[in-house]
Amino acid sequence: MPFYIGSEIYRRSTYGASHPLAIPRVSTCTDLCRAMGWLPDAVYLTAPQATAGDLARFHDPAYIAALQRVEATQEATEEDRRRFNIGVANNPVYPEVFRRPATSAGGVMLAARMTVAGGVVHCPGGGTHQARRAGAAGFCYVNDPVLGLLTWLDAGLDNLVYLDIDAHHGDGVQDAFADDPRVLTISIHEADRWPRTGQVRDRAGGDARNLPVPAGFNDSEMRFLMEEAVLPLIARRRPQAIMLQCGADGLEEDPLARLGLSNRAHWEVVRAVRGLAPALVVTGGGGYNPYTVGRCWAGVWATLNDIDIPERTTLAAEAVLRGLRYNRAAGRNPPSHWFTTIADAPREGPVRDEIRRIARLTSQEGIA
Ligand SMILES: [Zn+2]
Repeated sequence: MPFYIGSEIYRRSTYGASHPLAIPRVSTCTDLCRAMGWLPDAVYLTAPQATAGDLARFHDPAYIAALQRVEATQEATEEDRRRFNIGVANNPVYPEVFRRPATSAGGVMLAARMTVAGGVVHCPGGGTHQARRAGAAGFCYVNDPVLGLLTWLDAGLDNLVYLDIDAHHGDGVQDAFADDPRVLTISIHEADRWPRTGQVRDRAGGDARNLPVPAGFNDSEMRFLMEEAVLPLIARRRPQAIMLQCGADGLEEDPLARLGLSNRAHWEVVRAVRGLAPALVVTGGGGYNPYTVGRCWAGVWATLNDIDIPERTTLAAEAVLRGLRYNRAAGRNPPSHWFTTIADAPREGPVRDEIRRIARLTSQEGIA
């Protein structure tokens, strides 16, 4: 039976009115799952807040102390900005700037502890894949995927796969395990988008794979890459546990990336990796349109539970979606299917030569 780890800390927390993370995401997913009748209380767990000691398993104690101090004072010093990248446009000071990342880490670490012997957990508050050991990066203050993977390793597991389908390269996780053969990191992301790392030949010494895809990447192309390159790679490795970072910024309506996926592509990835290891933890990640993020991650939860997603939302779910505010052009006149459906229309298309080339290079031995 899959478990869902959430937290109310996400409900009113924002990075500031003009930041892409001004929007409610985890609370929207949770509310939608409940309103669809998919989330009984018995499988819902509240994420504990990781302690400074927990975070120090990966992060520099001086950086953790800075986050705690900045939360208390609501002010970043010149040194915080320069040394830790806190209090800059992407990684602003906001009221829960320590507690919220500590909760995302606590949730993913709990998910890992719960699945050491197998099991499935969805933790949509997790997925902050860009944070560094001693600094914030790309809206991420702590790296909860790294902390979750370390939790598995510390419990004795030694064969893990991290698959990242966020529109941005999962650089923080790749770099954290670059010299650790126990963790294979795989990232499918938009080519030439920040942080601009993750070229197709970059294997971080052997235990990473990168699939940088062109703008307009469609559902057929995602299926092709999974079937031709990613799934065989994972199947051959026979991992004990898989962490899937399910960032929703690769979806067509996302304002920060230019990929063209429907949420069905994400659910297909979830279904495909589920049987490949005894343990699966699915996290959130990027995603900056609250309607698409909420519907995508709610559908991830339905998929993990083998629930058929109905054509139309329930009235309660429609009310959740109609209650959202989205302060971008597309949000001022949202199309009606953002309220009345969970599943997008499929976005199939031709599989371009560039995608075939990426699949070929990813499957090729001997690039390191
Ligand atoms: Zn992203």
